[in-house]
Amino acid sequence: MEEKVMDPSSDEVYCSSCGNIIKKEAEICPHCGVRQIQNESQKAYGSDLRIYELQKLAEKDKTIAIILSILITPLGYIYVGKWGLAIINFLTFNYLLFGIVIVPIHTYSMISNARKDLDAMGADY
Ligand SMILES: [Zn+2]
Repeated sequence: MEEKVMDPSSDEVYCSSCGNIIKKEAEICPHCGVRQIQNESQKAYGSDLRIYELQKLAEKDKTIAIILSILITPLGYIYVGKWGLAIINFLTFNYLLFGIVIVPIHTYSMISNARKDLDAMGADY
């Protein structure tokens, strides 16, 4: 009876999905067909996600952001997708105090920075 060796050698790893032993360099497991989670692809995925978030921000209209931020400061944050900041802003009543000065500048610069970052990465928006 053939004995199965279940220890991966130096150039083998366990599949992140089905647990079969596969080659370290294998991108896709030949047993289950699942793409392996590797540091490199994780990094690439992370930057893709970041670009996507920046693009969402960059395509916002600065003028609308400023107007919303002045009228109702939490709305300015919601417009640029910063729900957390919007809630904090609302709960702290910051919008009644300095929010009207700070938030338009903040939302405006978030959009500007997103566009700058995308330019630096050579990505479109
Ligand atoms: Zn597998």
